[in-house]
Amino acid sequence: MDKRQVIVVGGGVGGSSAAFHLAKEGLGVLMLEKDQFPRDKPCGDGILGMLFPLLEEMGIADEIRANGFRTTGATRFYTGEEDYYRSPPSKPDEIPMYSVPRYKFDDIVNKAAVRSGIDYVENFEVTDLLMSRGKVRGVRGIHNGKTVEIESDLVVLASGSHFMPERRLGFYEEDPDYVFYGLRGYFDNIGNMEDIEFFYPDNFMPTGYIWIFPVSKTMGNVGVFITETALKKTGMTTEELLWDWSKNTKYGRERLGNATLAGKLKGWRLPTGMRQPIYADGVIAVGDAGNMIEEFGGGGIPQAMIAGTVAAKMARMAVDANDFSKDFLKQYGGMIDQAIGPFMQGMKLMRDYGASTPEQLRDLVEYMNANPQADTAAYLVQKAGMQAAAGSNQ
Ligand SMILES: Cc1cc2nc3c(=O)[nH]c(=O)nc-3n(C[C@H](O)[C@H](O)[C@H](O)COP(=O)(O)OP(=O)(O)OC[C@H]3O[C@@H](n4cnc5c(N)ncnc54)[C@H](O)[C@@H]3O)c2cc1C
Repeated sequence: MDKRQVIVVGGGVGGSSAAFHLAKEGLGVLMLEKDQFPRDKPCGDGILGMLFPLLEEMGIADEIRANGFRTTGATRFYTGEEDYYRSPPSKPDEIPMYSVPRYKFDDIVNKAAVRSGIDYVENFEVTDLLMSRGKVRGVRGIHNGKTVEIESDLVVLASGSHFMPERRLGFYEEDPDYVFYGLRGYFDNIGNMEDIEFFYPDNFMPTGYIWIFPVSKTMGNVGVFITETALKKTGMTTEELLWDWSKNTKYGRERLGNATLAGKLKGWRLPTGMRQPIYADGVIAVGDAGNMIEEFGGGGIPQAMIAGTVAAKMARMAVDANDFSKDFLKQYGGMIDQAIGPFMQGMKLMRDYGASTPEQLRDLVEYMNANPQADTAAYLVQKAGMQAAAGSNQ
Protein backbone atom coordinates (compact mmCIF):
# COMPACT_ATOMS: atom_id res chain seq x y z
CA MET A 1 0.00 0.00 0.00
CA ASP A 2 1.07 3.64 -0.56
CA LYS A 3 2.77 5.56 2.19
CA ARG A 4 0.35 7.56 4.38
CA GLN A 5 0.71 10.77 6.34
CA VAL A 6 -0.92 9.32 9.47
CA ILE A 7 -1.98 5.77 10.35
CA VAL A 8 -4.39 5.35 13.26
CA VAL A 9 -4.29 1.87 14.82
CA GLY A 10 -7.70 1.02 16.29
CA GLY A 11 -11.16 2.29 15.35
CA GLY A 12 -12.56 2.51 18.91
CA VAL A 13 -13.60 5.79 20.51
CA GLY A 14 -10.05 7.14 20.87
CA GLY A 15 -8.96 6.19 17.35
CA SER A 16 -12.18 7.40 15.76
CA SER A 17 -12.00 10.75 17.54
CA ALA A 18 -8.36 11.11 16.43
CA ALA A 19 -9.19 10.13 12.83
CA PHE A 20 -12.17 12.54 12.68
CA HIS A 21 -10.05 15.46 13.91
CA LEU A 22 -7.06 14.50 11.75
CA ALA A 23 -9.35 14.66 8.70
CA LYS A 24 -10.56 18.09 9.87
CA GLU A 25 -6.91 19.17 10.00
CA GLY A 26 -6.72 18.23 6.30
CA LEU A 27 -4.34 15.31 6.81
CA GLY A 28 -4.34 12.02 4.89
CA VAL A 29 -5.50 9.38 7.37
CA LEU A 30 -5.75 5.61 7.26
CA MET A 31 -7.52 3.99 10.21
CA LEU A 32 -7.00 0.24 10.73
CA GLU A 33 -9.29 -1.86 12.92
CA LYS A 34 -8.88 -5.55 13.69
CA ASP A 35 -12.57 -6.07 14.46
CA GLN A 36 -15.73 -5.21 12.55
CA PHE A 37 -18.21 -2.61 13.77
CA PRO A 38 -20.64 -2.66 15.47
CA ARG A 39 -18.81 -4.66 18.14
CA ASP A 40 -19.38 -5.03 21.87
CA LYS A 41 -16.97 -3.96 24.59
CA PRO A 42 -17.28 -4.75 28.31
CA CYS A 43 -17.98 -1.37 29.93
CA GLY A 44 -20.22 0.45 32.40
CA ASP A 45 -21.65 2.30 29.37
CA GLY A 46 -21.41 5.53 31.40
CA ILE A 47 -21.10 8.58 29.13
CA LEU A 48 -20.32 11.62 31.29
CA GLY A 49 -21.97 14.96 30.52
CA MET A 50 -18.52 16.52 30.00
CA LEU A 51 -18.23 14.57 26.72
CA PHE A 52 -21.25 16.15 25.03
CA PRO A 53 -19.54 19.29 23.64
CA LEU A 54 -17.16 16.97 21.78
CA LEU A 55 -20.03 14.79 20.56
CA GLU A 56 -21.82 17.97 19.36
CA GLU A 57 -18.67 18.95 17.45
CA MET A 58 -18.68 15.54 15.76
CA GLY A 59 -22.38 16.00 14.91
CA ILE A 60 -23.49 12.90 16.82
CA ALA A 61 -24.81 14.20 20.17
CA ASP A 62 -28.49 13.78 19.22
CA GLU A 63 -27.94 10.25 17.94
CA ILE A 64 -26.12 9.34 21.16
CA ARG A 65 -28.94 10.80 23.28
CA ALA A 66 -31.52 8.89 21.21
CA ASN A 67 -29.70 5.61 21.86
CA GLY A 68 -29.03 6.19 25.55
CA PHE A 69 -30.77 6.36 28.91
CA ARG A 70 -30.67 9.73 30.66
CA THR A 71 -29.86 9.27 34.35
CA THR A 72 -30.89 11.80 36.99
CA GLY A 73 -27.20 12.61 37.45
CA ALA A 74 -27.58 11.84 41.17
CA THR A 75 -24.86 9.51 42.38
CA ARG A 76 -25.30 7.10 45.28
CA PHE A 77 -22.25 5.95 47.24
CA TYR A 78 -22.71 2.98 49.55
CA THR A 79 -19.96 1.94 51.95
CA GLY A 80 -19.82 -1.61 53.41
CA GLU A 81 -23.19 -2.24 55.05
CA GLU A 82 -24.43 0.87 56.74
CA ASP A 83 -23.51 4.30 55.27
CA TYR A 84 -24.89 5.91 52.21
CA TYR A 85 -24.78 9.27 50.39
CA ARG A 86 -26.83 10.53 47.44
CA SER A 87 -25.53 13.58 45.57
CA PRO A 88 -28.09 16.07 44.24
CA PRO A 89 -29.37 15.31 40.72
CA SER A 90 -28.00 17.37 37.83
CA LYS A 91 -29.38 20.90 37.53
CA PRO A 92 -31.63 21.63 34.53
CA ASP A 93 -28.77 23.39 32.69
CA GLU A 94 -26.32 20.49 33.30
CA ILE A 95 -25.99 17.39 31.14
CA PRO A 96 -26.20 14.27 33.35
CA MET A 97 -24.49 10.96 32.68
CA TYR A 98 -26.15 8.91 29.93
CA SER A 99 -25.90 5.13 29.71
CA VAL A 100 -25.28 4.13 26.12
CA PRO A 101 -24.45 0.50 25.27
CA ARG A 102 -20.96 0.46 23.80
CA TYR A 103 -22.23 -1.66 20.92
CA LYS A 104 -24.15 1.47 19.81
CA PHE A 105 -21.92 4.25 21.16
CA ASP A 106 -18.66 3.07 19.58
CA ASP A 107 -20.39 2.38 16.29
CA ILE A 108 -21.83 5.91 16.11
CA VAL A 109 -18.42 7.47 16.88
CA ASN A 110 -16.69 5.15 14.40
CA LYS A 111 -19.16 5.97 11.61
CA ALA A 112 -18.68 9.72 12.23
CA ALA A 113 -14.95 9.23 11.64
CA VAL A 114 -15.55 7.23 8.47
CA ARG A 115 -17.96 9.92 7.15
CA SER A 116 -15.28 12.58 7.69
CA GLY A 117 -13.43 11.27 4.62
CA ILE A 118 -10.69 9.05 6.03
CA ASP A 119 -9.58 5.74 4.55
CA TYR A 120 -10.70 2.90 6.78
CA VAL A 121 -9.99 -0.82 6.72
CA GLU A 122 -11.66 -3.31 9.10
CA ASN A 123 -10.51 -6.87 9.81
CA PHE A 124 -6.95 -5.53 9.65
CA GLU A 125 -4.92 -6.65 12.65
CA VAL A 126 -1.75 -4.66 13.16
CA THR A 127 0.76 -7.22 14.39
CA ASP A 128 3.85 -5.05 14.64
CA LEU A 129 5.32 -1.60 14.17
CA LEU A 130 7.76 -1.08 11.30
CA MET A 131 10.96 0.23 12.84
CA SER A 132 14.19 1.52 11.43
CA ARG A 133 17.02 2.90 13.53
CA GLY A 134 14.73 3.01 16.57
CA LYS A 135 12.06 5.03 14.76
CA VAL A 136 8.53 3.90 14.01
CA ARG A 137 8.01 4.06 10.22
CA GLY A 138 4.61 2.47 9.82
CA VAL A 139 2.83 -0.78 10.59
CA ARG A 140 2.76 -4.42 9.62
CA GLY A 141 -0.46 -6.36 9.80
CA ILE A 142 -2.64 -9.16 8.57
CA HIS A 143 -5.56 -8.52 6.24
CA ASN A 144 -7.45 -11.17 4.28
CA GLY A 145 -4.88 -13.74 5.37
CA LYS A 146 -1.98 -11.77 3.87
CA THR A 147 0.82 -9.84 5.57
CA VAL A 148 0.70 -6.15 4.60
CA GLU A 149 3.21 -3.39 5.36
CA ILE A 150 2.24 0.29 5.22
CA GLU A 151 4.61 3.18 5.83
CA SER A 152 3.58 6.48 7.36
CA ASP A 153 5.07 9.70 8.72
CA LEU A 154 3.26 9.24 12.01
CA VAL A 155 1.46 6.38 13.77
CA VAL A 156 -1.29 7.17 16.27
CA LEU A 157 -1.73 4.17 18.54
CA ALA A 158 -5.35 3.88 19.67
CA SER A 159 -5.29 0.13 20.06
CA GLY A 160 -6.62 -0.10 23.61
CA SER A 161 -4.83 -1.72 26.51
CA HIS A 162 -3.68 -5.03 25.04
CA PHE A 163 -1.38 -4.21 22.09
CA MET A 164 1.87 -6.04 22.78
CA PRO A 165 4.32 -4.23 20.39
CA GLU A 166 3.74 -1.07 22.45
CA ARG A 167 5.66 -2.60 25.31
CA ARG A 168 8.85 -2.29 23.27
CA LEU A 169 8.36 1.48 23.24
CA GLY A 170 8.07 1.61 27.05
CA PHE A 171 4.43 2.77 26.86
CA TYR A 172 3.40 0.29 29.55
CA GLU A 173 4.03 0.35 33.23
CA GLU A 174 2.08 -2.28 35.08
CA ASP A 175 1.55 -1.89 38.79
CA PRO A 176 -0.89 -4.34 40.44
CA ASP A 177 -2.22 -1.48 42.60
CA TYR A 178 -3.30 0.31 39.42
CA VAL A 179 -4.34 -2.55 37.15
CA PHE A 180 -8.09 -3.08 37.38
CA TYR A 181 -9.99 -6.26 36.63
CA GLY A 182 -13.44 -5.45 35.30
CA LEU A 183 -16.57 -7.55 34.83
CA ARG A 184 -19.86 -6.48 33.29
CA GLY A 185 -23.34 -7.96 32.91
CA TYR A 186 -26.84 -6.68 32.12
CA PHE A 187 -29.42 -7.49 34.80
CA ASP A 188 -33.17 -7.19 34.37
CA ASN A 189 -35.83 -6.62 37.00
CA ILE A 190 -33.67 -4.53 39.32
CA GLY A 191 -36.22 -1.79 39.93
CA ASN A 192 -35.85 1.81 41.10
CA MET A 193 -33.39 2.63 38.35
CA GLU A 194 -32.58 6.28 37.64
CA ASP A 195 -29.52 7.14 39.69
CA ILE A 196 -25.88 6.11 39.30
CA GLU A 197 -24.96 3.63 42.05
CA PHE A 198 -21.55 2.71 43.49
CA PHE A 199 -21.10 0.09 46.22
CA TYR A 200 -17.81 -0.21 48.12
CA PRO A 201 -17.74 -3.54 50.01
CA ASP A 202 -15.00 -3.61 52.67
CA ASN A 203 -13.27 -6.63 51.12
CA PHE A 204 -12.72 -4.67 47.84
CA MET A 205 -10.15 -2.31 49.39
CA PRO A 206 -7.74 -1.00 48.11
CA THR A 207 -9.62 -0.43 45.89
CA GLY A 208 -12.66 -1.52 43.98
CA TYR A 209 -16.41 -1.29 43.75
CA ILE A 210 -19.58 -2.61 42.23
CA TRP A 211 -21.56 -0.32 39.95
CA ILE A 212 -25.17 -0.31 38.82
CA PHE A 213 -25.87 2.09 35.97
CA PRO A 214 -29.46 2.28 34.69
CA VAL A 215 -29.98 1.24 31.10
CA SER A 216 -33.78 1.46 31.41
CA LYS A 217 -36.21 1.83 34.33
CA THR A 218 -35.73 -1.85 35.19
CA MET A 219 -32.50 -2.96 33.53
CA GLY A 220 -29.03 -2.14 34.80
CA ASN A 221 -25.49 -2.44 33.58
CA VAL A 222 -23.87 -4.08 36.61
CA GLY A 223 -20.19 -4.61 37.08
CA VAL A 224 -17.16 -5.14 39.25
CA PHE A 225 -13.99 -3.08 39.15
CA ILE A 226 -11.17 -4.15 41.45
CA THR A 227 -7.40 -3.71 41.48
CA GLU A 228 -5.18 -6.74 40.98
CA THR A 229 -3.81 -6.29 44.52
CA ALA A 230 -7.27 -6.25 46.12
CA LEU A 231 -8.54 -9.11 43.95
CA LYS A 232 -5.66 -11.36 45.03
CA LYS A 233 -6.45 -10.63 48.68
CA THR A 234 -10.08 -11.73 48.27
CA GLY A 235 -9.01 -15.11 46.87
CA MET A 236 -12.00 -14.94 44.51
CA THR A 237 -12.57 -14.22 40.83
CA THR A 238 -14.48 -11.10 39.80
CA GLU A 239 -17.47 -13.29 38.96
CA GLU A 240 -17.41 -14.96 42.38
CA LEU A 241 -17.17 -11.52 44.01
CA LEU A 242 -20.28 -10.31 42.20
CA TRP A 243 -22.39 -13.36 43.18
CA ASP A 244 -21.02 -13.28 46.72
CA TRP A 245 -22.03 -9.61 47.05
CA SER A 246 -25.48 -10.22 45.60
CA LYS A 247 -26.22 -13.10 48.00
CA ASN A 248 -24.35 -12.25 51.18
CA THR A 249 -24.64 -8.48 51.68
CA LYS A 250 -27.57 -6.26 52.58
CA TYR A 251 -27.26 -3.94 49.57
CA GLY A 252 -26.47 -6.80 47.21
CA ARG A 253 -29.63 -8.67 48.22
CA GLU A 254 -31.69 -5.46 48.00
CA ARG A 255 -30.53 -4.56 44.51
CA LEU A 256 -29.91 -7.91 42.81
CA GLY A 257 -32.06 -10.26 44.96
CA ASN A 258 -34.85 -10.43 42.36
CA ALA A 259 -32.78 -9.54 39.30
CA THR A 260 -31.95 -11.89 36.46
CA LEU A 261 -28.81 -11.88 34.36
CA ALA A 262 -29.56 -11.20 30.69
CA GLY A 263 -26.82 -12.69 28.52
CA LYS A 264 -23.30 -13.39 29.76
CA LEU A 265 -20.87 -11.72 32.14
CA LYS A 266 -17.81 -10.36 30.31
CA GLY A 267 -14.41 -9.45 31.74
CA TRP A 268 -11.51 -7.16 30.82
CA ARG A 269 -8.16 -6.14 32.29
CA LEU A 270 -7.31 -2.45 32.43
CA PRO A 271 -4.10 -0.67 33.49
CA THR A 272 -4.92 2.84 34.78
CA GLY A 273 -3.26 6.11 35.72
CA MET A 274 -0.96 7.71 33.16
CA ARG A 275 2.61 7.51 34.37
CA GLN A 276 4.69 6.48 31.38
CA PRO A 277 5.69 8.09 28.06
CA ILE A 278 2.99 8.39 25.42
CA TYR A 279 5.26 9.38 22.52
CA ALA A 280 8.37 8.04 20.82
CA ASP A 281 10.03 8.62 17.43
CA GLY A 282 7.25 8.56 14.84
CA VAL A 283 4.44 7.55 17.21
CA ILE A 284 1.99 8.93 19.77
CA ALA A 285 -0.68 7.14 21.82
CA VAL A 286 -4.26 8.02 22.71
CA GLY A 287 -6.75 6.53 25.18
CA ASP A 288 -6.13 3.15 26.81
CA ALA A 289 -3.06 2.64 24.59
CA GLY A 290 -1.56 5.55 26.57
CA ASN A 291 -2.96 4.39 29.94
CA MET A 292 -5.28 7.40 30.11
CA ILE A 293 -7.86 5.67 32.31
CA GLU A 294 -8.45 7.43 35.61
CA GLU A 295 -7.42 5.42 38.64
CA PHE A 296 -10.45 6.02 40.88
CA GLY A 297 -13.33 4.64 38.83
CA GLY A 298 -11.63 3.21 35.74
CA GLY A 299 -13.41 5.58 33.34
CA GLY A 300 -11.62 6.34 30.10
CA ILE A 301 -13.97 7.32 27.27
CA PRO A 302 -13.73 11.12 27.75
CA GLN A 303 -9.93 11.01 28.06
CA ALA A 304 -9.58 8.81 24.95
CA MET A 305 -11.81 11.08 22.86
CA ILE A 306 -10.24 14.31 24.13
CA ALA A 307 -6.78 12.84 23.49
CA GLY A 308 -7.93 12.17 19.91
CA THR A 309 -8.46 15.91 19.39
CA VAL A 310 -5.04 16.68 20.90
CA ALA A 311 -3.33 14.02 18.77
CA ALA A 312 -4.77 15.64 15.63
CA LYS A 313 -3.35 19.06 16.62
CA MET A 314 0.02 17.44 17.36
CA ALA A 315 0.02 15.66 14.01
CA ARG A 316 -0.74 18.94 12.18
CA MET A 317 2.18 20.63 13.96
CA ALA A 318 4.53 17.73 13.13
CA VAL A 319 3.51 17.72 9.46
CA ASP A 320 3.95 21.51 9.21
CA ALA A 321 7.41 21.27 10.79
CA ASN A 322 8.19 18.02 8.92
CA ASP A 323 9.50 16.74 12.23
CA PHE A 324 8.26 13.43 13.69
CA SER A 325 11.11 12.97 16.14
CA LYS A 326 10.62 12.11 19.78
CA ASP A 327 12.07 15.53 20.67
CA PHE A 328 9.40 17.31 18.66
CA LEU A 329 6.55 15.01 19.76
CA LYS A 330 7.49 15.65 23.38
CA GLN A 331 5.07 18.60 23.27
CA TYR A 332 2.26 16.08 22.99
CA GLY A 333 2.83 15.00 26.62
CA GLY A 334 2.37 18.60 27.81
CA MET A 335 -0.68 19.14 25.60
CA ILE A 336 -2.33 16.00 26.99
CA ASP A 337 -1.54 17.08 30.57
CA GLN A 338 -3.22 20.38 29.88
CA ALA A 339 -6.29 18.75 28.34
CA ILE A 340 -6.98 15.92 30.80
CA GLY A 341 -4.48 16.48 33.67
CA PRO A 342 -6.86 18.33 36.05
CA PHE A 343 -9.55 15.64 35.64
CA MET A 344 -7.00 12.86 36.21
CA GLN A 345 -5.66 14.68 39.30
CA GLY A 346 -9.18 15.01 40.75
CA MET A 347 -9.76 11.29 40.30
CA LYS A 348 -6.37 10.50 41.85
CA LEU A 349 -7.34 12.54 44.92
CA MET A 350 -10.58 10.57 45.22
CA ARG A 351 -8.65 7.34 44.93
CA ASP A 352 -5.80 8.20 47.34
CA TYR A 353 -7.74 10.04 50.04
CA GLY A 354 -11.35 8.95 49.58
CA ALA A 355 -11.43 5.32 48.51
CA SER A 356 -8.35 3.42 49.64
CA THR A 357 -9.67 2.11 52.96
CA PRO A 358 -13.14 1.46 54.40
CA GLU A 359 -12.43 4.17 57.03
CA GLN A 360 -11.63 6.78 54.35
CA LEU A 361 -14.86 5.98 52.55
CA ARG A 362 -16.98 6.20 55.69
CA ASP A 363 -15.28 9.49 56.53
CA LEU A 364 -15.99 10.87 53.07
CA VAL A 365 -19.62 9.73 53.07
CA GLU A 366 -20.10 11.20 56.56
CA TYR A 367 -18.54 14.48 55.42
CA MET A 368 -20.68 14.70 52.27
CA ASN A 369 -23.86 13.97 54.23
CA ALA A 370 -23.01 16.63 56.82
CA ASN A 371 -21.88 19.19 54.22
CA PRO A 372 -24.01 18.65 51.11
CA GLN A 373 -23.04 22.02 49.59
CA ALA A 374 -19.30 21.71 50.30
CA ASP A 375 -16.57 21.17 47.72
CA THR A 376 -15.46 17.53 48.07
CA ALA A 377 -12.23 18.17 46.16
CA ALA A 378 -11.23 20.91 48.64
CA TYR A 379 -11.91 18.47 51.50
CA LEU A 380 -9.70 15.82 49.89
CA VAL A 381 -6.92 18.35 49.18
CA GLN A 382 -7.05 19.26 52.86
CA LYS A 383 -6.81 15.58 53.83
CA ALA A 384 -3.86 15.13 51.45
CA GLY A 385 -2.13 18.13 53.07
CA MET A 386 -2.74 16.75 56.58
CA GLN A 387 -1.34 13.37 55.59
CA ALA A 388 1.74 14.97 53.99
CA ALA A 389 2.33 17.07 57.13
CA ALA A 390 1.95 14.01 59.37
CA GLY A 391 4.45 12.15 57.15
CA SER A 392 7.04 14.93 57.31
CA ASN A 393 6.76 15.11 61.15
CA GLN A 394 7.60 11.45 61.54
C1 LIG B 1 -15.34 -3.24 32.65
C2 LIG B 1 -15.07 -1.85 32.14
C3 LIG B 1 -15.99 -0.82 32.43
C4 LIG B 1 -15.74 0.49 31.96
N1 LIG B 1 -16.68 1.47 32.18
C5 LIG B 1 -16.49 2.72 31.69
C6 LIG B 1 -17.50 3.72 31.81
O1 LIG B 1 -18.61 3.46 32.30
N2 LIG B 1 -17.24 4.97 31.32
C7 LIG B 1 -16.04 5.29 30.75
O2 LIG B 1 -15.83 6.45 30.37
N3 LIG B 1 -15.07 4.33 30.58
C8 LIG B 1 -15.26 3.07 31.02
N4 LIG B 1 -14.31 2.09 30.82
C9 LIG B 1 -13.07 2.44 30.10
C10 LIG B 1 -13.31 2.52 28.60
O3 LIG B 1 -13.90 1.32 28.14
C11 LIG B 1 -12.00 2.76 27.85
O4 LIG B 1 -11.25 3.74 28.51
C12 LIG B 1 -12.24 3.20 26.40
O5 LIG B 1 -12.89 2.19 25.67
C13 LIG B 1 -10.91 3.56 25.72
O6 LIG B 1 -11.09 3.70 24.33
P1 LIG B 1 -9.89 3.38 23.33
O7 LIG B 1 -10.38 3.79 22.00
O8 LIG B 1 -8.63 3.94 23.85
O9 LIG B 1 -9.70 1.80 23.41
P2 LIG B 1 -10.70 0.65 22.99
O10 LIG B 1 -12.10 1.04 23.28
O11 LIG B 1 -10.17 -0.59 23.64
O12 LIG B 1 -10.56 0.55 21.43
C14 LIG B 1 -9.40 0.01 20.85
C15 LIG B 1 -9.74 -0.47 19.44
O13 LIG B 1 -8.54 -0.90 18.81
C16 LIG B 1 -8.75 -2.13 18.16
N5 LIG B 1 -7.47 -2.86 18.15
C17 LIG B 1 -6.83 -3.40 19.21
N6 LIG B 1 -5.68 -3.98 18.81
C18 LIG B 1 -5.62 -3.79 17.47
C19 LIG B 1 -4.67 -4.20 16.49
N7 LIG B 1 -3.58 -4.91 16.82
N8 LIG B 1 -4.90 -3.85 15.19
C20 LIG B 1 -6.00 -3.14 14.85
N9 LIG B 1 -6.94 -2.75 15.73
C21 LIG B 1 -6.75 -3.07 17.04
C22 LIG B 1 -9.81 -2.83 19.04
O14 LIG B 1 -10.51 -3.83 18.32
C23 LIG B 1 -10.68 -1.66 19.44
O15 LIG B 1 -11.75 -1.43 18.54
C24 LIG B 1 -14.54 0.78 31.26
C25 LIG B 1 -13.63 -0.25 30.99
C26 LIG B 1 -13.89 -1.54 31.42
C27 LIG B 1 -12.90 -2.61 31.11
